[in-house]
Amino acid sequence: MAAMRSAPEIARVDISRQTGLSPATVTAVTSELILAGLIEDAPGVTGPTRRGRPRVNLRIRGCAHRVIGAKLADRTITTAVLDFAGKTLAEAEYPIPGGGMSPDRVATYVAKAVQDACGKAEMRLEEISGICLGVAGFVDGPRGLVHWSRAFDRRDVRLTELLSRHFACPVFVENDANLIAMAELWFGMGREKRDFVTVTLENGLGMGIVIDRKLYRGSRRRGAELGHTKVALDGALCSCGQRGCLEAYVAEYALLREANLVLDAGQRLGDAGARMDALYAEARGGNARALEIFRRAGRMFGLGLANVVNIFDPSLIVLSGTAMRYEYLYDEAVMAEMRANIIKVDDAPPDVRVHEWGDVLWAKGAAALALEGITELALASLGQPRSAAE
Ligand SMILES: [Zn+2]
Repeated sequence: MAAMRSAPEIARVDISRQTGLSPATVTAVTSELILAGLIEDAPGVTGPTRRGRPRVNLRIRGCAHRVIGAKLADRTITTAVLDFAGKTLAEAEYPIPGGGMSPDRVATYVAKAVQDACGKAEMRLEEISGICLGVAGFVDGPRGLVHWSRAFDRRDVRLTELLSRHFACPVFVENDANLIAMAELWFGMGREKRDFVTVTLENGLGMGIVIDRKLYRGSRRRGAELGHTKVALDGALCSCGQRGCLEAYVAEYALLREANLVLDAGQRLGDAGARMDALYAEARGGNARALEIFRRAGRMFGLGLANVVNIFDPSLIVLSGTAMRYEYLYDEAVMAEMRANIIKVDDAPPDVRVHEWGDVLWAKGAAALALEGITELALASLGQPRSAAE
């Protein structure tokens, strides 16, 4: 199924080549998936096979299932409704009060946001086969557990269990940085790559790792916490409560901590986004202290990227998040800092590209995870081996 998602349509022989499964196995598995209504013959033929029969491509059957992906952000819940083939049917944004809320309150808002998305897609909730919610923080996706997140007023929230009281279909929960990795893998720059990492910089610093076209979550299932790798002994206080984390030097709140020294009283009144924009305007306008705040954060970010390269040696690093509005955090000075700190070999350093996603793309990543989740459930119900998932 994963091989089929890498292209709009695909021939059985190419599935065999990509997965290493024998042609006979591919024929057997795809026949069962067609019978189950999960895939179908694509209209049109692409020329005769060697045996002279017309070659019919296969494709995922879009109407087989519909899922909703959602991203819980500070002030909104962004949603995307996708069909089984990954086509976007509707997108929506639902405002929420923000701040650390009780788990019950968050679940109620998620239920309202999902209802709103169904309305936009002109569907009933009963027609949805799966829902995935992305949350910033320390999230154990497979167990549906949020160990810690700024979105909640307490630790250790059994979020999947809580959300399942509102929905009849399967519910999945995931660390939001992993949503971007999935969005890149299915819809973005990662479509052609087997291994890559995504780094998201907003009010926190997140990372997603894709190895062999699969999300890598680690043995404790928390995923990659680049933001909480340590870059200073007894350093700046991080939002996680520890000191010296990379995030405490590069995330929005880290820059805003110093922004008060630069901004006037009027500029200091706005919300975090407005204050960041004011600080950026000052830097662009020639305020040396404002520029220095960005430059220092940029150097630390470059250092963090160098650490990523030294550990993983990915072929591609995709940078995204709202902080990509500020070029000082990814411009040539930052890349030079990265290059200066990676181990010296003859090969060129990895490609680093900026991909400015809006909130809805996070939601699409969540929807991709929901699709992956219900695909595994559907295949398990058919008694298909794990090879079918690949
Ligand atoms: Zn931390």
